[in-house]
Amino acid sequence: MTTKKCSLCGAVFLCGSHHQQPCWCTNYPAIMPITDGQDCRCPACLTVGVQEKINDYIQKNPMPTAVPEQYRNTKLIEHIDYYIENGNWVFTAWFHCKRGSCCGNACRHCPYGHENVR
Ligand SMILES: [Zn+2]
Repeated sequence: MTTKKCSLCGAVFLCGSHHQQPCWCTNYPAIMPITDGQDCRCPACLTVGVQEKINDYIQKNPMPTAVPEQYRNTKLIEHIDYYIENGNWVFTAWFHCKRGSCCGNACRHCPYGHENVR
């Protein structure tokens, strides 16, 4: 593992890429453009940046039926796909967007206006 310094906040964190294993950051949706002159971000700063990109995406694509393949992270990430409230998992709009339709369970952050809820 390599120690890195966050390009935004300066926090020291570990890059997980070693022995051809991908870094933890590859679990995130590939929705962040690489900005010239910017190095890696720590988990906290990457999470915030990805959340902003996701919010932009959802604003531009309300009720998405097809989130591009490269944006779809498969491993669930706290604060990206869900958060925990009083011990319960609450799924984010992003999680629902990747499914592409309303599941009918009246989820709090349903981006589809609960269209399949009876
Ligand atoms: Zn940081």
